[in-house]
Amino acid sequence: MTARILDGLKIRDEIFAELQQEIAKLSAQGIRPGLAAVLVGENPASQLYVKSKITACEQLGMASWMHTPPANSSTEYMLQLMQDLNENDHVDGILVQLPLPKQIDTKKVLEAVNPTKDVDGFHPVSLGKLVSNRPGLVACTPAGCMEMLRRYNVLIEGANAVVLGRSDIVGKPMALLLMHANATVTICHSKTRDLGDIVRRADIVVAAMGKAGYVQADWIRPGVAVIDVGTNKVTDPAEAETLLKNFPQRLEKFRAKGNVLIGDVHPDALFTAGALSPVPGGVGPMTITMLMSNTVKAAKLRRGKTAVVAG
Ligand code: NAP
Repeated sequence: MTARILDGLKIRDEIFAELQQEIAKLSAQGIRPGLAAVLVGENPASQLYVKSKITACEQLGMASWMHTPPANSSTEYMLQLMQDLNENDHVDGILVQLPLPKQIDTKKVLEAVNPTKDVDGFHPVSLGKLVSNRPGLVACTPAGCMEMLRRYNVLIEGANAVVLGRSDIVGKPMALLLMHANATVTICHSKTRDLGDIVRRADIVVAAMGKAGYVQADWIRPGVAVIDVGTNKVTDPAEAETLLKNFPQRLEKFRAKGNVLIGDVHPDALFTAGALSPVPGGVGPMTITMLMSNTVKAAKLRRGKTAVVAG
């Protein structure tokens, strides 16, 4: 038996269809939700991420703007840009693609975003709302993981949820969201002892560590729901051969391409878990989807006084 696949692409399509209806309602009120993306410098991976976010906006009929300050931009320049975007009424969401170059004070820049436009959910005001379980804009990756669990009817209330990783952008908000949904949450990190024993007690596992195939298949009890957030590019042939020994087709692709994307969960968990989000095609598409959803939500909260605010 193999795990039920938690298909991020399928849920993305469902949510996009819902968002299109919401956007049409807003459009009838003369409101076109808009996202301003800021990409500093020329990091190719960041360029790719931002481009896919802009494409998603276009697909949904939302407005989008791309700001590309040069790599040597100063903190002051960025603060002025944030102020301009905060004051621009057409902009509902501000996305600052991370990482920023070293000379820029990232915290200062993120704190300069007006919390009503904080579609990444990184502002301390957004984090405070999350901690106190008040409505607000929640970081996209953990919000996407929750949406995935809900849409696949995974029982969260009363479940033992184990979150692997405690970063500000994934692990911590994920643990808070699961706790607010009445799971009993254990947060693990690099100093956690006997990780396997802890994971073996879980009903839900969320792995966000950044370590290819670290979570072993035999740590996962039958029936457990596994959300694999990790996206690790494996290029070492020996590592790929070990990780993919039961997946000949993927191994073939690796041999042709020279790299493969592997989650934090060992691919063999497909044979032990009850439900599993694949890498790629699981959490990745959900992150962009929730960014779009947050932008529409921000537009409704800020501008759509008469619009029904859902989600
Ligand atoms: P991060 O900031 O590097 O945090 C990694 C976390 O994992 C840390 O809390 C670290 O513990 C913990 N950890 C590391 N080794 C561990 C071990 N052996 N046992 C237990 N915990 C361990 O990473 P992140 O930004 O949260 O991202 C995590 C992964 O998710 C990465 O692969 C990233 O690429 C991926 N990601 C994917 C998406 C997506 O859209 N699909 C979005 C965001 C992130 P300490 O705190 O003790 O160091």
